[in-house]
Amino acid sequence: MMSKLTAKGISKVYNGKEVLHEVDLELESGKIYGLIGRNGAGKTTLLSMLTAQNPVTRGSVTLDGKPMWENPEALEGVCFSRELNPVSPNGANTMKVKEYLRVAATFLPHWDREMAQRLAGEFGLDVGKRISKLSKGMMSMVTIVVALASKARFTFLDEPAAGLDVVAREKFYRILMEEYLDTGRTFVVSTHIIEEASDIFEEVIILDKGKLLLKENTQELLERSYHVSGHTEEVERAVSGKKVYHEETMGRSRGVTLLLQPGEELRPGYDVSIQHPSLQKLFVALCGEEAD
Ligand code: ADP
Repeated sequence: MMSKLTAKGISKVYNGKEVLHEVDLELESGKIYGLIGRNGAGKTTLLSMLTAQNPVTRGSVTLDGKPMWENPEALEGVCFSRELNPVSPNGANTMKVKEYLRVAATFLPHWDREMAQRLAGEFGLDVGKRISKLSKGMMSMVTIVVALASKARFTFLDEPAAGLDVVAREKFYRILMEEYLDTGRTFVVSTHIIEEASDIFEEVIILDKGKLLLKENTQELLERSYHVSGHTEEVERAVSGKKVYHEETMGRSRGVTLLLQPGEELRPGYDVSIQHPSLQKLFVALCGEEAD
């Protein structure tokens, strides 16, 4: 069934400071979205508002047109598996892993107990251990197990790869892809480890200083991104009139990053080198310090 989760003009103000600004977002069923943004960009705030765990200051969040806030019917369709850390609230840390999973099960109407057990086994989680005694990587695994076993149509994971070593991250992305291909569930995954995840994300959502910078098919975005470098004067001529997102100058050479609009082309005939940047490079160009 086609399903849509829609955020309209959502903003969040904490102590007089606006940390999320008028975000419009439409998430469709059957996609894996990557949510990227620097620390403090508002990713966790956005995810918690999309799943009605945190009230919006302004705006609305709906699932198939039905308001999400305090609406059990809509809430059934979503799961936000929060990051666990040594200071997690709600006493999570005093629980054993198996108790935490049991509590999660009571909140998640489509919980798949067999899957939770299987994944805990695959990740080598000791379910008899207290959360507070787990390594950062093990805590990430617990949140991943909750997210996947929730079987929610829209499943949100906040930095699931944080703290996982590269082998565990590969395993996580493989399991995520398998679940996605089997079920067509929608996943929204926030991460700052962009490069290795960029193949997984069908669409990428970039949040910068509380604003939605873009939401776009990952391949299409990379195809319209260019890094042009060479002699400063040549580069300037090649890109004149185009919006430059980032530039670095070294002596007499310059490199600039551009996003071309549909139908827009780079001027041919200049002695410059032209490449498509990686998603990570593009992200740094769009959200790095100098990108204003
Ligand atoms: P990210 O997940 O991208 O790192 P967050 O959503 O955690 O960003 O935070 C965005 C901003 O909101 C930060 O400046 C953070 O300090 C602030 N913030 C987050 N939660 C709270 C809160 N409960 N009270 C006050 N400020 C908060």
